[in-house]
Amino acid sequence: MKACILSIGDELVLGQTLDTNSMWVAQQLTAAGCDVVEHRTVSDDQGSTEDAIRDVASNKLCPELLVITGGLGPTDDDLTRQALAACLNQPLELREDWVEAIRDLFRRRGREMNQKNVIQAMIPRGATMLRNDHGTAAGIRATLSKDGRSVEVFALPGPPSEMKPMFLRDVLPFVKERAGGAVLLQKSLHTFGLGESVLAEMLGDLMSRGRNPSVGTTASNSYVTLRINARYDDAAVAEREVRQTIELCRQRVGDVIFGADEESLADAVAKLLIESRRTVTAAESCTGGLLAKMLTDVAGSSVYFKQGFVTYSNEAKRARLGVSENTINVFGAVSEQTVLEMARHSRRLAGADYSLAISGIAGPGGGSEAKPVGTVCIALAHLPTAPTGKRNADREDEVTAYARTFRFGGDRAGIRDRAAKTALAMLRFRLLDRPLPF
Ligand code: AMP
Ligand code: MG
Repeated sequence: MKACILSIGDELVLGQTLDTNSMWVAQQLTAAGCDVVEHRTVSDDQGSTEDAIRDVASNKLCPELLVITGGLGPTDDDLTRQALAACLNQPLELREDWVEAIRDLFRRRGREMNQKNVIQAMIPRGATMLRNDHGTAAGIRATLSKDGRSVEVFALPGPPSEMKPMFLRDVLPFVKERAGGAVLLQKSLHTFGLGESVLAEMLGDLMSRGRNPSVGTTASNSYVTLRINARYDDAAVAEREVRQTIELCRQRVGDVIFGADEESLADAVAKLLIESRRTVTAAESCTGGLLAKMLTDVAGSSVYFKQGFVTYSNEAKRARLGVSENTINVFGAVSEQTVLEMARHSRRLAGADYSLAISGIAGPGGGSEAKPVGTVCIALAHLPTAPTGKRNADREDEVTAYARTFRFGGDRAGIRDRAAKTALAMLRFRLLDRPLPF
């Protein structure tokens, strides 16, 4: 079944409120096997609302369901019920039982009902009223017919706390019945370090349009996510096909995939640290504690993280971590030599198995030709691991350390985010005993 979503409100059109209703409704509909073909947003204007509703009835894609949210409030700018009545060619009729329910709700809150609230009990003739258990605005269900086609319309209140329970109670059963067991199963696989085009090349025909399950990529928060969507008439078949596609993605892309769905890169690193009973510390300059934050975002992080160091100035790098003055003077604060010293010393000071050190130029100022904004040096220091997997004696001359210089694009926040996540990736591949693939 195909569906359209219409959200109504000046605050949405003006960009003052994020349209989270459409996002949530689309997710619910999609998971129930419904094909969401269009989202639309209009202002609190009756004409625009009527046009949008009528357009759905004549849409080439032939949607059978329209979910509307917003515009059911008691004030003069809430005109969804009037617009819907006009499209249905029916007058609005007062539902006395709902006026009583509203009056009751006010009474229970120790207040008198305002006359303006009466409009919230007006329903187009022939339509079904949807009771609101969390507010005063009744919802409306109606069938809109045009040229032999019919669209089932559900108008729901705008506040998410009222809209969601009404959707789950009144819209979802209708969708499930019509979908007849069809499902859309979704899975996200997160990668870090390779660009979208490189991944697309590795994935090859898995990304062909029209493939089921489909594989697409999206980039955000420095991750590139592989999104797998499977549409089948049977949930068990969908699950099997998704499992197979995940396997194919893993074969082609490999370890660059660090997690699925809600998992972060720090979660993946945490898992490896906990499994191997290792600890980590962080010595940070340009990320100002962001790496330590990511490492401690994970519940239970005290097992592998005891302390970190934020050494923003050269003086702090010298005084707190013992980076030599000569290193900073000769090579600069943003250099592989400096981060190597930061990593070695912080690891020893914290008594950790691993240390990650970051120093870079997050911008917007401070860049030079040799070291432009986005230049970030990252080092990883660690004790060598004996073939038995046991730690070797904590001897400083046995500590292994390596550093890399990266050039990140983006703004200050993006550079810092990428720097901290690159450090996590360096540790992750070290823990996997594999070379960094980027
Ligand atoms: P309304 O039904 O138009 O009276 O909506 C009342 C309130 O619900 C608005 O002031 C918003 O705070 C919220 N709201 C309405 N539509 C949306 C939407 N699409 N996404 C998120 N919040 C919304
Ligand atoms: Mg509104």
